[in-house]
Amino acid sequence: QNLLTIYDFERRYYELLRPLDWVLGLLSLDIGIDLGTANTLVSIRDKGIVINEPSWVAINKRTRRPLAIGAEAREMVGRTPADIVAIRPLRDGVISEFEITEAMLKYFIDKAHEQMIVPFPRPRVVVGVPSGVTEVEKRAVYDATISAGAREAFLIEEPMAAAIGAGLPIIETRGSMIVDIGGGTTEVAIFAMGGIVVSRSIRVAGDEMDEDIVQYARSKYSLLIGERMAERVKIGVGSAFPMPEEQTMTLRGRNLINGLPQAVEISSIELREAMAPSVNIIVDTVRDALDETPPELVADLMEVGICLAGGGAQIRGLAERIEDAVKMRVWVAEDSMTCVARGAGRVLENLDNYRRVLVGLDRGSTHH
Ligand code: ADP
Ligand code: MG
Repeated sequence: QNLLTIYDFERRYYELLRPLDWVLGLLSLDIGIDLGTANTLVSIRDKGIVINEPSWVAINKRTRRPLAIGAEAREMVGRTPADIVAIRPLRDGVISEFEITEAMLKYFIDKAHEQMIVPFPRPRVVVGVPSGVTEVEKRAVYDATISAGAREAFLIEEPMAAAIGAGLPIIETRGSMIVDIGGGTTEVAIFAMGGIVVSRSIRVAGDEMDEDIVQYARSKYSLLIGERMAERVKIGVGSAFPMPEEQTMTLRGRNLINGLPQAVEISSIELREAMAPSVNIIVDTVRDALDETPPELVADLMEVGICLAGGGAQIRGLAERIEDAVKMRVWVAEDSMTCVARGAGRVLENLDNYRRVLVGLDRGSTHH
């Protein structure tokens, strides 16, 4: 296969440079990046997570020039003057605007790089990309990383990085499974022997649940609420499975009939109903992936269970909901939102071990 040749080539090239690389490695920072649809996290070898900011960029509408990135850009959302717009370039897992993605990567790499004692050599960077991305998109991320100042760039599929970060034994023969629920995408993957055996990537995740809640408030209470309000109640009292003690929270918005501000108490029971469309799709996707999994691996999974990662994994009762649907143990990874970044960092610490789990690039045309 094509990828194998590239991999062989890379390995030989790498062997040749290894003595030099060892010296550079002592001085340089190796950086793992989780380029998420909602949040970008950066981890540095031996230091852990150093950056955790929303994946927002504020740009000038006319020139499309970035004006602010990360937390600062998110602060501008909804408050921008007419000629500035705040966007999420990775939303829905698509690298829609290359230049903006590049600016964002550069900002985060520079920010991490500032932590170095000396400003050179440039860092080696591992970037997590959604497993569904096209060859063109991978290329775009790779190029953006290099042009953002990386000495070497490696791509890893996000579910793979999430699994490594969650401590799953993906290199072993035994099967394991991750469900990474982010903002824009949910990624399901089943691993064995360092490879992804079955995978699913859907554009239903945390954001879609927020939209469900906006819809629900509108149709049930004629209440117009913003996305951030919806996210707040989702995190506060959202739920996917009956809870021992149901809770309520205040929803604030504007009444659509009289145009006046209005507050409504919303319960975790109502939110469960509101979020059901997205939650059901996620559950069905997990079930589909399991249906396609070879029986030997299913047997392994029955032993080790299914691991949930990403911010969406923290929805109350989601693990129970999936457990109930697939009759298998489901657990939430420790510090689920940082799994991908920590996994990417781990890969850099053991590049020799993990080299084979990295994404091959069809680099026919360009070599930097
Ligand atoms: P991405 O990898 O796409 O950037 P993240 O893994 O950072 O996404 O997760 C972001 C999503 O997780 C958002 O939709 C956010 O609302 C949701 N989220 C974060 N914390 C919680 C929580 N405690 N409960 C429920 N959802 C949460
Ligand atoms: Mg993610």
